[in-house]
Amino acid sequence: YCAKSARQGAVVYDEHRDGSGRYRLEAVDQLRRAISDGELVLHFQPKVALATGRIDGVEALVRWQHPTRGLLFPDAFIDLAESVGLMSALTSRVVGLALAQRRAWADAGRELVVAVNVSPSNLVDEHFPDEVAQLLDQHGVPAGALVLEVTESLLMEDRERAVRVLARLRDAGVGVSIDDYGTGYSSLAYLAELPVTELKLDRTFVADLTASPRAAAIVTSTLRLAHALGLTLVAEGAEDQATVDALAALGCDVVQGYHLSRPLPPEQLAAWADRWDVPAGTTGRGAAG
Ligand code: C2E
Ligand code: MG
Ligand code: MG
Ligand code: MG
Repeated sequence: YCAKSARQGAVVYDEHRDGSGRYRLEAVDQLRRAISDGELVLHFQPKVALATGRIDGVEALVRWQHPTRGLLFPDAFIDLAESVGLMSALTSRVVGLALAQRRAWADAGRELVVAVNVSPSNLVDEHFPDEVAQLLDQHGVPAGALVLEVTESLLMEDRERAVRVLARLRDAGVGVSIDDYGTGYSSLAYLAELPVTELKLDRTFVADLTASPRAAAIVTSTLRLAHALGLTLVAEGAEDQATVDALAALGCDVVQGYHLSRPLPPEQLAAWADRWDVPAGTTGRGAAG
């Protein structure tokens, strides 16, 4: 968690430090320009299937290559984008970038499923499924190569509409993942009705796995639940080999975390994948990051 805490406070706009609201317009303007002028870039973090050791896909994580402040992480600008109505533009841009990259990898002979994070405003937008379909079409990417990650809390805001939007995406063949699973408060009954394909267990449970029998119990029961509902269980935030081994022993489907690799720029991700794909049996696997 060091990288995260080191970044804390580095938001592009902090309303508590802006009594007059003077800097807000400036920050919003910069962000709007960043979205339209190509300052947003994606880093990709691999997900590995535990049963086979093969790459299952990648998660796209947005960064802002800011002209003066360097590379900014999403916690510096996602909240601002959401609160000033720029999230739908940001998501369109991110989905477009992710699909363009996916297409480039496919053209180079590597077909990867790409996961993109979406926000509350995307799921209450009835145009969103059409927009996604259009972007898939534009980039020549099959719907099955795209997963959208949504958080539980996000789903609570306008349940009916969110379920409708998700169902349309699902029906089109797009994967839907519940991100940070276990930290929200959705009922199990609601979960059973959601048109989702994957649960992504929050990293707090994963981090405690090897030290805490309680965390292990949560992973085990979530795994049973996921499988009973026909869903894939992904564990995020695996930071050491012991955790990866424990997840594999419990029967978890897919793992993601710094121990396998940090999120990487596209060309580095491709190089990582080339190394990872070297025939198994070698001991090279595991600590590439
Ligand atoms: P998330 O979707 O849960 O993504 C996982 C976050 O955990 C990423 O942080 C990733 O770098 C980090 N992570 C991965 N493995 C490990 C690990 O082993 N240990 C630890 N401590 N952390 C790990 P990042 O890139 O800073 O993203 C933070 C959040 O910002 C994401 O959480 C997601 O909610 C949001 N986000 C990222 N990209 C986008 C985007 O394009 N659109 C939207 N709406 N939100 C995004
Ligand atoms: Mg995510
Ligand atoms: Mg997550
Ligand atoms: Mg998270």
